[in-house]
Amino acid sequence: MASRTGSQIIAIEEHYLDADVAEKTQGRAGGRGETRDRLADLGEWRLREMDEAGIDIQVLSHCPPGAQAFDPDELDRARAVNDRLAQTVKAKPDRFAAFASLPLRNPAAAADELQRCVGELGFKGAMVHGLTDGKFIDDRSFWPVFERAQSLDVPIYVHPGRPHPAVIEAYYKDYVEKFPSILSAGWGFTVETATAGVRLMLSGVFDKCPDVKIILGHMGEGLPFLLWRLDMAFGGMHPDAATVPIREHFCKHFWITTSGNFSNPALLCSVMEMGVDRILFSVDWPYVMNRPGSEWMEGVPLSAEDREKILNGNAKRLLKM
Ligand code: ZN
Repeated sequence: MASRTGSQIIAIEEHYLDADVAEKTQGRAGGRGETRDRLADLGEWRLREMDEAGIDIQVLSHCPPGAQAFDPDELDRARAVNDRLAQTVKAKPDRFAAFASLPLRNPAAAADELQRCVGELGFKGAMVHGLTDGKFIDDRSFWPVFERAQSLDVPIYVHPGRPHPAVIEAYYKDYVEKFPSILSAGWGFTVETATAGVRLMLSGVFDKCPDVKIILGHMGEGLPFLLWRLDMAFGGMHPDAATVPIREHFCKHFWITTSGNFSNPALLCSVMEMGVDRILFSVDWPYVMNRPGSEWMEGVPLSAEDREKILNGNAKRLLKM
C-alpha cells in the first residue's frame, strides 16, 4: 500500500528476534509482552502494521544483542541466525531486505560472516549492537570487520546496546528502578552510541579504511546537534593535543536515520549539518510504532524531492536496492 505521501517507503532499522538467540540469552533479548511477540513475528502481524503505515520495505535487523550473544566458537549458531533471516527475505523479497548479525566475539569470523551474508545471501550490510565483551566497536580487534565492509562496499549500522555495568553503577542506578528507560531509549542508549561514534572518529579507523560507511540511528544519536562543538574541541582547542577533523569524518563516513526520533527541529539541524543525502527513514519497529513515523514524514518542512530522498532514494543508493 502506498503511503499518503505517494512515495515508496523503505525503513531500515526494523528489528526481529530469532528463536535461538532468545534461547541463548535466556529470554533477556528483545523486551517483554507485545513488543516481544511483534519481534518474533515475521509474517502477517508485521506486514499488516507496515501496510497500515504505508511502509513498503523493512530492512530487517536482529534486536540487541543478536549473534553477539554467541560464544566465540559458536559460529554455526551465528551463521544459522543469518540463514534463517535469508529465508524470510527470500519468501517476501518485495517486502524485506536484511542486515547481517555478526558473531563479534570472534572478529575474524565476524568479518567472514559479513562477506558470506553479503556475497551469498544478498544482505545489505550489518548491524552491530553496543559493547562486545565490554569493548566499544572502535577497538582495534574489530577493525577487520570495517576493512571487510569497505571492500564489500556495504555499511555497518552501529546500534545501541545496554551501558557497561560500571557505568550503570556510577551514573544511572539511582533512577533505574523507577525509570528503566534511563538505560535505554530515554538516555543510556544515546550516550553509549554517541560515544561509539566519537570514538570511531578518534580511533584512526577512517585512516585505515578511508571509504568505510557507518550508519547511526535516532537522528545521529545527538551528534549532528553537537558537531560544531566537537569539531572545535578536537580541532586544536588544546594546543598540545592531537587534532582530528571531526566534521570531515562525520560528513564523509556517517549516514543517520530517523529511527525513534520524529522531530522536525532535530531533522532540520541534521540537514543543515550533513545534508539531506545522508539521512534515511526508519522507525525502530516494534519499539516504536510505524504510523507515527510515516505520518510525521508527510508533514516534514522539506521539499517533496528531499522527502523522497529520505523515504527511499538515499536507502536505494547506500544499500544498492
Ligand atoms: Zn533499534
